[in-house]
Amino acid sequence: MPKIDEFNKKVSDLASTAGKKVSEAAQTAAKKSSDFMEISKLNKSISNEEETIQKLMTELGRELYEKYLKDELCDGSLKETCSWIKIHEQNIEEYKQKINEFKNIKTCPNCGEKFDTDVEFCTKCGSKLE
Ligand SMILES: [Zn+2]
Repeated sequence: MPKIDEFNKKVSDLASTAGKKVSEAAQTAAKKSSDFMEISKLNKSISNEEETIQKLMTELGRELYEKYLKDELCDGSLKETCSWIKIHEQNIEEYKQKINEFKNIKTCPNCGEKFDTDVEFCTKCGSKLE
């Protein structure tokens, strides 16, 4: 049965070719995935470095700002940035004050004492707070 033998050989050749292709593809995929892992690791390293630089930049800025507050800063262009920081710090203070005002929104109708919103009765005169 030479024809069947020939056929079987062809099938087995095809199968081995296919098998080879699959394993090549698998190797390529494995390489790609390990490349991907390496790239991820390197990207992580980059963001770690960037984070460190950011922290040091902040520290640098804080040191300069403290010099500015002590009037020890000579560079005029840095002074401008520092004055902006000061304005924003003042804004924060204003916001904090407003928050405190909201917290102390309850005023005793009898004596005018201020209380936190969760207080029910005036501790000074005993009136019910609204
Ligand atoms: Zn009261």
